[in-house]
Amino acid sequence: MSNQSDLLLDVSILYRSTQKYYDRMLQKLHMTYAQLPILIMIYEQEGITMQQIANQGVYDKGTISKNVKNLQTMGFIRTQESKKDKRNKELYTTDQAKQIMFHVYGIRRDWWHHLTKDIQTDELDHFISLYQTMAENARRYANTETHPIHFYQWQKVSLDAYPDQVATVLSTGGCNFRCPACVKSDLVFLQESTQEILMDDVIDYLNKRRGIIQAVSIEGGEPLMQDGIAYFLRQIKTMGYKVKISTNGSFPDRLKELVNEQLVDYVSMRIKNGPRHYGKAIGMDTHDVSDIQESAEFLIHGSVDYEFWWQPIKEFHNEKEIQEIAQWLQGAKRLVVAPLPAGARMIQPDLHGLPAEQIKQAIEILRGTIQDVQMGD
Ligand code: SF4
Repeated sequence: MSNQSDLLLDVSILYRSTQKYYDRMLQKLHMTYAQLPILIMIYEQEGITMQQIANQGVYDKGTISKNVKNLQTMGFIRTQESKKDKRNKELYTTDQAKQIMFHVYGIRRDWWHHLTKDIQTDELDHFISLYQTMAENARRYANTETHPIHFYQWQKVSLDAYPDQVATVLSTGGCNFRCPACVKSDLVFLQESTQEILMDDVIDYLNKRRGIIQAVSIEGGEPLMQDGIAYFLRQIKTMGYKVKISTNGSFPDRLKELVNEQLVDYVSMRIKNGPRHYGKAIGMDTHDVSDIQESAEFLIHGSVDYEFWWQPIKEFHNEKEIQEIAQWLQGAKRLVVAPLPAGARMIQPDLHGLPAEQIKQAIEILRGTIQDVQMGD
């Protein structure tokens, strides 16, 4: 296991161990772990409504209703119509619950003592304060309706990221593929501690660089996985920037939406292999290429400017695969063939770029069906 922080796994271990402990200890009270925080909230805030519990605990309504109903059936709580708003029900603990709360708090305290054994008081205070801040951030974010876009790398000025334009280059994190030859493992295996670049800082930068920077190039990971991409692009388009998106082509609907809304001026679609063995080149056993095909056809027959981009890898691309790619992209306007850079750090480090002589032969094959095949950097 990596020695990098893996908060999600740690939280999951903590959660499951806590659940096991509570379920065992609560057995004699005929309660479950899921009911406990809800009962404590009602006991400490008599008259609280289901909506308030949902907001405070970031629960969905179904979970609350189910647990409230069970607690009611067990005789631990009762409901009462709210005097302020008749549509709401207020929740109160019964005398039966009040009798057991001492035991409930005792179970909770014992577990806490067990978890915090050998931790100094000042360390614990600091941890609790940080933990509460994280929970508050999580609660706030979970209730946010808008979807931000997450950037993790930023090359502020580039002369070759966008054809004939001075561009700024932003990289989003996360990808639905795990290509063995991927050189962006830090964006694919995104660590929790990776510093995010705030969208507002990018907007601010672009606002001040109008006339100096002309284009924004958005790369991945896979940028079309980002729910907030349209929102972000609308903002930068109103500033007059040209936009290039690099994509693996697996989100044709979103690609079409962005292009049809005129939010994208140039698409670079990354082709990984011929259709038969596509899965092999993206780190999967098999892969249905229909989405990728849909994106490719949209570009070939559509009006937005584009290129296909392909990195030849010795272990994946023999002549047969290259002929398949040529067949697949028949009629395409442009293909950039990008040799693997020397010293590239790939997810699977023992792969090799195709030798120069074979790349030349590949280009000859590809030129049979594609109008413009260029050697990339
Ligand atoms: S699609 Fe691109 S970013 Fe995603 S794993 Fe493959 S090479 Fe890496």
